[in-house]
Amino acid sequence: MAKITLSNLAHAYRPNPQSRSDFALKQMDHVWDDGGAYALLGPSGCGKTTLLNIISGLLIPSQGKVLFGEVDVTRLPTEQRNIAQVFQFPVVYDTMTVYDNLAFPLRNRGTEAHLVDARVRDIARMLGMTDVLGKKAQGLTADAKQKISLGRGMVREDVSAILFDEPLTVIDPHMKWELRTQLKALHREFGHTMIYVTHDQTEALTFADKVVVMYDGEVVQMGTPADLFERPAHTFVGYFIGSPGMNVLPAKIDGASAYIEGCQIPLSRHYSGLETAKTVEIGCRPEFLTLTDRPDGLPVQVRRVEDVGRLKIVRADFFGREVNIIAPEGASISDRQNRVVFDPARINVYADSWIVEGK
Ligand code: ATP
Repeated sequence: MAKITLSNLAHAYRPNPQSRSDFALKQMDHVWDDGGAYALLGPSGCGKTTLLNIISGLLIPSQGKVLFGEVDVTRLPTEQRNIAQVFQFPVVYDTMTVYDNLAFPLRNRGTEAHLVDARVRDIARMLGMTDVLGKKAQGLTADAKQKISLGRGMVREDVSAILFDEPLTVIDPHMKWELRTQLKALHREFGHTMIYVTHDQTEALTFADKVVVMYDGEVVQMGTPADLFERPAHTFVGYFIGSPGMNVLPAKIDGASAYIEGCQIPLSRHYSGLETAKTVEIGCRPEFLTLTDRPDGLPVQVRRVEDVGRLKIVRADFFGREVNIIAPEGASISDRQNRVVFDPARINVYADSWIVEGK
């Protein structure tokens, strides 16, 4: 296992890039811990695959270095990087048994048979595949084949890192949850450094200790799932993470409050030092807005209510902007609930899209 350092990294596909926008990956300086489980999360085109390809050795960056531990691997080909990779589609040998497929990467390196056996059985047990170890891969479902690929990716203990490129794409939706949980358990048990690319926030949040959110060729935040939920560093993160994402509303600061169209929204005390009349955006997640008939609430007009099982998602008009409010199970939503209350402790303030640190 190794820590991974990305130093002054950038990549442009076109030769002679003229401006920052020509770079698919902009300036990156990060250290990812040895044994960490990282998810690279972001919308299509944000640069996830480019970064993964640079880490795996498929692509040499236009600028900067990649280190595994203290070793500069920037120009090393993939096969010399000592990594394992799991792709979107299963890579298995159909004519081999599940056992032999799982054992392959170890036998290939001359590992002793008893060590191979112990490791293969451990992995199979954790993936719930013990019963099919003797079966040929060709008769198995796509889900089972992808499980074998995951197992093969994790079977070697001595890899520097395991790279996963959207590995659950072909998995049946109801199996995804199980596999995510198994992957997490495998990480806990074996402690590999793992990098997992996805555009699916549920996958990222359940798999990773640290989620690396990318936007337009940059890492906009690296944090725990709780960090991303509670203190999105950038309005994009607030919007992208969550279902629906964070509400972002333009406001003006006066004292310890934000004002929207003259209506006061108190902020938490740590924002009391903000410059008066400063134009900001306030971010508040739908979970922390409450529809009410209380007169101290601010006026909203409910436009639509979606019942999503235990919760209701309310779409409302708030001074000409759409806000989302999540109402709890059993909440009755009538014409009388035409006010909204913000929870000051749960409001973040943003200037030019980046979070403003309070006191
Ligand atoms: P997706 O989730 O759709 O795979 P991504 O986040 O992995 O997207 P990349 O594939 O890394 O994003 O693409 C980042 C940017 O680089 C995009 O603007 C894309 O069009 C561009 N790009 C990617 N590969 C190439 C290439 N081979 N040549 C030129 N431009 C490319």
